[in-house]
Amino acid sequence: MPVVNQPSAARLNRGPLLFRYIDDPEQYRIERYLEHGGYTALRKALREMTPAQVAEMVARANLRGRGGAFFPTARKWSLMPSGVFPRYVVANADESEPGTCKDRQLMERDPHQLIEGLTLAAYSVGAEQVYIYIRWEFEFAAERLWNAIREAYAHGFLGKRILGTEFNCDMAMHRGAGAYICGEETALLSSLEGRRPEPRLRPPYFPAAKGYRSLPTALSNVETYCNVTHIVREGPEVFTQFGREKCPGTKLTCISGHVRTPGVYEIPLGVPLREVIDEWGGGVREGRSLKAVIPGGASAPILPPDRIDYPFDFEGMIEAGSMIGSAGVIVMDDTTCMVGAAMNLVRFFEHESCGKCTPCREGCPWLSRLLRKIEAGQGKREDIDLLLSLCDEMDGKCFCLLGESAIVPVRSAIQHWRHEFEQHITEGRCPFGDGAY
Ligand code: SF4
Repeated sequence: MPVVNQPSAARLNRGPLLFRYIDDPEQYRIERYLEHGGYTALRKALREMTPAQVAEMVARANLRGRGGAFFPTARKWSLMPSGVFPRYVVANADESEPGTCKDRQLMERDPHQLIEGLTLAAYSVGAEQVYIYIRWEFEFAAERLWNAIREAYAHGFLGKRILGTEFNCDMAMHRGAGAYICGEETALLSSLEGRRPEPRLRPPYFPAAKGYRSLPTALSNVETYCNVTHIVREGPEVFTQFGREKCPGTKLTCISGHVRTPGVYEIPLGVPLREVIDEWGGGVREGRSLKAVIPGGASAPILPPDRIDYPFDFEGMIEAGSMIGSAGVIVMDDTTCMVGAAMNLVRFFEHESCGKCTPCREGCPWLSRLLRKIEAGQGKREDIDLLLSLCDEMDGKCFCLLGESAIVPVRSAIQHWRHEFEQHITEGRCPFGDGAY
């Protein structure tokens, strides 16, 4: 049985913004949060700023969504059609990208910065109802969040006439049932409405225009809203002092795999990926060398070691041939079988496919079967080209990004390590031994 009644045991270090108090064991309580300057941003916004000024501050910081797409947050808010009410703010807390466990830390250890950021967003866009959609497995985080929401109501930071102003805002939490597809924003909204969590067609279902109950909805990731709190509290400069001009701020980065110090760290955007692995991750295991790295969770292309000197941010990782995605950095050393690694990732997508569209529903199991066959040493030479042609057939034809993501590890593994696929076929076995992935 998993232990759920205590915080995760991930290694964490204090960071400059979101992780400033992450190792304070009392930070989840409102009294400690207030001692550390909590809810001053909300006071400041409600008493001294108009909703438009809050959005302008977020725009000046150039905050880009931390869910993976890095779309400018203030621009997203500006896309909500004017004059259409009610409208909603939703936090995507359905964190389930393999290799990613950062939002969980925020919700377990410092939940009030999320609540404050969400309330600021609601004030800015004119919403009076906020939902936090949290994945089922985050039982402890959900417990902490419930308590924090209750505390915020008791202190007058949520509810009617907040801090004596005309602003009303209610907040509720919705627990998903544990499906990766619920992290896709339109599927999340379907689930929030009590429907089967299947993605919706875009257009017209862009959440900003037609979101929850087909009404305007600001939907962002947990980390994004936490950043709003710090930007409003301390000004955009506190944020823009980190990172590069196009992509400022810090990024909560989850480093896992064959490194000495795996954990979740708050890292300034724009440092070289090499530094992320060596400085924060402690470098690869003793006596081994780096073979591959996935910089942004399972949906990001796998990179070989000659691509790790690019800046670790949205633009830098695209230049390197991958994506920063959720910043789930998965490091693999020279003991890893790349056929097995690709197979492992594809099996995840196969399992999580919602089945709505044929290319993904049929394509993922087919990719998975072929990879299993090759990994077991039973593949034929033509299977490699069959894999690539299957990827071409799926590319651009899946209804949502889950299906498109399944082809990513296959293509990148064959692009950089084709010789390993061929070696499995010619030797009729995995040269790395069982389970080397
Ligand atoms: Fe569902 Fe996959 Fe199609 Fe997305 S791509 S709608 S997950 S079947």
